[in-house]
Amino acid sequence: MSDTIAAIATGKTVSAIGIVRISGDNALTVADDIFRAAARTTPRATTVTTLKNAENRKLYYGEIHDENGNLIDLCLCTVSRAPGSYTGEDTVEFHCHGSPVVLTEVLQTLFKHGVRQALPGEFTKRAFLNGRMDLTQAEAVIDIIESETPAAARNAAGQLHGSIGTKMESVYNRLLDIMTHFHAVIDYPDEDIDDFQMQNYLTTLRETENELQKMLETHERSKVLREGIPTVIIGRPNTGKSSLLNALLGYDRAIVTDIAGTTRDTIEEKILIGNVLLRLIDTAGLRKTNDSIEKLGVERTHAAISKAGLVILVLDGSEPLKNEDYDALHSIPPDVPKIAVVNKSDLPAELNINELKKLGIDNCKISALSGEGLISLDEEIQKLFPEFGKSSAERQSACGELITNIRQTEAISRAASSIHSAATALTASVTPDAVLTDIEAAMAAIGEITGSVIKEDIISGIFERFCVGK
Ligand code: GDP
Repeated sequence: MSDTIAAIATGKTVSAIGIVRISGDNALTVADDIFRAAARTTPRATTVTTLKNAENRKLYYGEIHDENGNLIDLCLCTVSRAPGSYTGEDTVEFHCHGSPVVLTEVLQTLFKHGVRQALPGEFTKRAFLNGRMDLTQAEAVIDIIESETPAAARNAAGQLHGSIGTKMESVYNRLLDIMTHFHAVIDYPDEDIDDFQMQNYLTTLRETENELQKMLETHERSKVLREGIPTVIIGRPNTGKSSLLNALLGYDRAIVTDIAGTTRDTIEEKILIGNVLLRLIDTAGLRKTNDSIEKLGVERTHAAISKAGLVILVLDGSEPLKNEDYDALHSIPPDVPKIAVVNKSDLPAELNINELKKLGIDNCKISALSGEGLISLDEEIQKLFPEFGKSSAERQSACGELITNIRQTEAISRAASSIHSAATALTASVTPDAVLTDIEAAMAAIGEITGSVIKEDIISGIFERFCVGK
């Protein structure tokens, strides 16, 4: 028996269509209490007298009434029965007009019929508890909703499709095979594992550990896909860094003045350039200063540069290169991708581009003031980060191969380390029960990833991150 829950699935803003979802044992009864299907309008139109007779996943047009019989909305209704629904329970969805007022009224009416408000993520939690998806798929649901780049969304879609679960199942089965054989050896002294078999087990363990290590290596890359490339805009004061940030963001985010040293702290914003997500960090200008607060800002700039995934060096194209420009350029570590933006192209050019070329830095002429050249800057940035676009990395993200989740990373790491210990124990000819202990620890860690072995408090923590209605 499950109590019946309901929520607005489409958020609280005005939209063309808004959906109220109901799930639980009484979903159909309660929906029947408030929904009246319209009479057949054309000979081919289908209708029902009660939703209990409705076909699964078919849309029925009708009216929703409150408990006093007053009309709330004209809507479409669809039924999906247990066990084949999203939650694994009987579910009903009303596709209403997307007014928050209307949707709230529908929800309130349902509450009066004994339904309760769903908690954040409760529909997906029920899907997991009813075996409709494993925990990695449930986590992919939130990742897909929160994804900020097409690549991150594709990766999450691959995981929703079961990419991690399938891999984990294969690892689990390999370990299970070894475990059962070792148990037999312990329980029945006549059983033995011959050298050839032992060598096979060792190879399996090493290959499996390798596989898990490769999965772990994808985590760093996935972080960039999800959180954006940490991008630092540097340059001496007044070259137009804040103006560039504002031009890229399309609104006034940083204070722009012509008094040197206005931007004393770092400012962070995310921006999607084509498919590339940048986490822009505007910084204090790089110059020698005696002002203690500004000095702090300059120190932070240097710290940000050392951790950057991209540095945009802004130069004033209306002046020749100055020592401070060279200093800024030399402050960029050689392995960090960089691009020089020669700003103020609306003013007479005084900066010698050939000098820049000699320094081996790609450049792009723009005017942050007029917006001229911003498109070519966008293109240069997209060229630098093909993993967000149509490259082999994109194909990898399309399969859901990138591990984005810290919980999963931590459990995979534990599994890999236990498998490593098991392999070491095997080569050292340690007693079978020592090998078994490591293999069982690895299997438990794998079980945590998919959710087949997991504690209630961890499950609650995962679903609390969801929005209501999902
Ligand atoms: P920051 O100190 O590097 O952040 O520089 P700001 O963005 O505060 O700009 C310094 C001054 O340069 C301001 O007066 C801006 O209006 C001006 N400025 C910025 N970009 C351009 C541009 O493309 N053309 C012109 N003519 N002036 C600009």
